Amino acid sequence: MTTDYPSHIAGARTAVPGAGDRSDNVNPATGAVLGTIHHATTADVDAAVAAAQAAQPAWAALTGAARGRILKRTADILRRDTAALARLEVLDTGKPISEALAVDVSSAADCLEFFGGLAAAVQGEHIPLGSSAFAYTRREPLGVCAGIGAWNYPLQIAAWKAAPALAMGNAMIFKPSDMTPATALALAEAFAEAGLPAGLYSVVQGDGRIGAALATHPDIAKVSVTGSVPTGHKVMAGAAETLKHVTMELGGKSALIVFEDADLENAVAAALMANFYTQGEVCTNGTRVFVAEALHDRFLARLVERTAKLVVGDPLDPATHVGALISAAHMDKVLGFIETGTREGAELAIGGKRRTDGALAAGNFVEPTVFARCRDGMTIVGEEIFGPVLSLLTFREEAEVVARANATPFGLAAGLMTRDLARAHRVAAALEAGVVWVNDYNLTPIEMPFGGVKRSGIGRENGLAALDAYSERKSVYVSLGDVDCPYPT
Ligand code: NAD
Repeated sequence: MTTDYPSHIAGARTAVPGAGDRSDNVNPATGAVLGTIHHATTADVDAAVAAAQAAQPAWAALTGAARGRILKRTADILRRDTAALARLEVLDTGKPISEALAVDVSSAADCLEFFGGLAAAVQGEHIPLGSSAFAYTRREPLGVCAGIGAWNYPLQIAAWKAAPALAMGNAMIFKPSDMTPATALALAEAFAEAGLPAGLYSVVQGDGRIGAALATHPDIAKVSVTGSVPTGHKVMAGAAETLKHVTMELGGKSALIVFEDADLENAVAAALMANFYTQGEVCTNGTRVFVAEALHDRFLARLVERTAKLVVGDPLDPATHVGALISAAHMDKVLGFIETGTREGAELAIGGKRRTDGALAAGNFVEPTVFARCRDGMTIVGEEIFGPVLSLLTFREEAEVVARANATPFGLAAGLMTRDLARAHRVAAALEAGVVWVNDYNLTPIEMPFGGVKRSGIGRENGLAALDAYSERKSVYVSLGDVDCPYPT
C-alpha cells in the first residue's frame, strides 16, 4: 500500500492530486515506492504565506507562556508517538531504527520542550540614560519565516527551525527535502492536535524550486536552510533580493584529533560515532581523523576490529548499526569517492564495497569504510562525502595538526581527544569550527548553540542563540523632559 504526501497549509492537508508536479518517495533500503509526493506550486506557497500572515499577529500577541504550552504539548505528542514516527523516519531515510528511536524523535521533542519552556522567559532590557530619559528594548518576532530541510534528520531539522520560530511569535513555513516528506507532515499534525492555530506551521512539499520560491518570497522575513554549501549560496543570493534574515546550516569536512595521551578505547569509540552514525550522512561528521603518530598502529588495529563488528542491514531491524544511503545516485557518488581514494593511494583498511547480499541488493548499502595512510591533498580528505568513509591521517605536533585541521573552506565542527586539560582548551580555541567536542563526538544537546563558520554556515540554531535568530530587538527611547531643540522658538 502506498501513501500520499501532500502539503499541509492553513491547518489541513492539501487536495490530492494537487496542481503541482508529482514524484515517488522511495524507501532507500528496498527500492520500494512508499508513495507519491504532491509538490506544492508557487500558488500553494502564496497560500501558505497568506495563512501565516493571517494567523501570526494573534499568535505573537499571546503570552509566551501560552505559546510555550502548545509547544510542550506537541513535545508530549511526539514522545507518545515515538514508535510510529521513528518508523516513518526509517522508511524515508534508511537510517537504523535504533537511532531513530534514541535520537531523531527525542531530539525533536527535546527541542519543542526547551523552546516551549523558554517562550515565557523572553525579556527585553531597560537602559538607563540619566535622569531625563531611558530606553528599553522589545523582543519582536520577524513575522513569517521559512525553513528548508535536508534529508538526513528530517523531523529534527523541522523541529529545530519551527520551535524557536514559534516560541518567539513567528509563523513557520517548512519545506522538507523531496526525499523525506513524511515526518514534517506528521509534525504539522502533532501541532494541530496540540492546539496550534492553523497557518502558523505549514508544510510545502517540493524540490529546490519550491525552496527558491520561499527564499525569494517578498512577504517572508527570514529563511533558515539546512543543506549543502552550493544550496546555501543560492538561498542566500535569493534572500538578498528582499534582504531576508538568513540562517545557513551547511556542509562540513570536520576533523577529529586524537592526541598521544588520549584514552585509546574512547578515541576509537569517538571515531566510530564521528563517521558511521546514520550511515555517515551527518553534516558534523569528523571524517578526517588525525591520530598522533605514536598511537597510530594501535588505534588503526582497534578501529578496524570494531568497524568489522558493525552490522549493515535492514534499517528496521533493531540489531542494525549501518542502514541504507538515501538514494542510488548518492550511493554511486559515495562509491565513486571510495574508488578515487584507492586510486589516489589511500590504503583501504576495511570496507569499501556496496553490500548486495540477500535483500540488501535492492537497497543502497555501503560498508563502513576506513582509509589509512591518507594525505592532506587527497580528494577523500578534502571533499564532503556524506557516507560511511573515514580518512585516517597522522601528525606529530599540536601546531601542525591544528593548521592542517583548519586548512579547509569548511568550519562546521571538530573534535579532540586528550587527557591534557590545558591542551584541550588551547586547541578548542584554535580550531576554526562552530562546534568543538572535547573527548566525545557528535552530541548536539538542544541547550548548546549549533552551527558553522566559514563556508559551513551563518548563524546558530539551538540554545538561547536561536531566539535571537528569530527575533528583532526594537529600541524604544523614552524622554522624561522637554525636547532639547537648538532651533529658534
Ligand atoms: P541539498 O542542498 O541538496 O538540499 C537541502 C534542501 O534545499 C532541500 O530541501 C532542497 O530541496 C533545497 N534546495 C535545493 N536547491 C535549492 C534552491 N536553489 N533554493 C532553495 N532550496 C533549495 O542538501 P541535501 O542533499 O538534502 O543534504 C545534504 C547536505 O546538507 C550536506 O552537505 C550536509 O552536510 C548538509 N547538512 C547540514 C547540516 C547542518 O546543520 N549544518 C545538517 C544536515 C545536513
